[in-house]
Amino acid sequence: AAPGLPYPRILVKVSGEALMGPEPFGLHPPTVAAIARDLVAARALGCEVAVVVGGGNILRGARVAGEDLDRATADHMGMLATVMNGLALEQAIEKAGAPARTLSAVPMPTVCEPYARQPALRHLRRGRIVLLAGGTGNPYFTTDTGAVLRAAELDCDAVLKATNVDGVYTADPKTDPSATRYDRLTHDQALAYDLKVMDAAAFALAREAALPIIVFSIREPGAIVRAATGSGRVTVVAP
Ligand code: UDP
Repeated sequence: AAPGLPYPRILVKVSGEALMGPEPFGLHPPTVAAIARDLVAARALGCEVAVVVGGGNILRGARVAGEDLDRATADHMGMLATVMNGLALEQAIEKAGAPARTLSAVPMPTVCEPYARQPALRHLRRGRIVLLAGGTGNPYFTTDTGAVLRAAELDCDAVLKATNVDGVYTADPKTDPSATRYDRLTHDQALAYDLKVMDAAAFALAREAALPIIVFSIREPGAIVRAATGSGRVTVVAP
């Protein structure tokens, strides 16, 4: 990685919804391409880039689980959705000119590599953008927790959590005009305030690993580069 970067190795959490763009479901190819270009631009700065992809644009386990479908099975389906998104993003990144590899926590070797730490680190050192699919590989978890877990085990310097708003606010800025944005929060505050931006398991793990979380809006082009270089409007959750 190039010297002078605040976060030489980043883990970007891209939700399934971010890949949906204006569509009500699934993938919006121009939006996927725009996010891919932004990831490639972050790599061009000298960052090593890992990405955890969500699956909420296709299926959320908690939403489809019910009388006829066990939660664990529904969550397995949700994990498969994240692999679809990973493959779409992998291809868009390669079209944008950078090498990419999808690694799945749910092994499916004819489709992509199974996730393992050492191969993931090797890909990162060789400048490949690594798409981490399948979340943690376990039901009852989220890809937010997966993002913090992978960031911790892959020695990433920060988690860049992409959202629809440019940080964490005191209230919902869409409905409350008096809401103000936090520049900085501690992990303890993030947990105590019961913030909706990430689940408690993810914040607790980030606290344990002393891992900064940069909350930023992915709506504008260049957002990932700005968050990776410590510029732009963001909320930093850090010790
Ligand atoms: N999921 C899971 N274990 C994980 C990560 C994800 O079971 O470690 C399942 C879960 O059903 C979840 C779905 O995959 O609803 C999609 O992930 P998530 O909701 O985190 O995606 P996002 O909200 O980021 O699009």
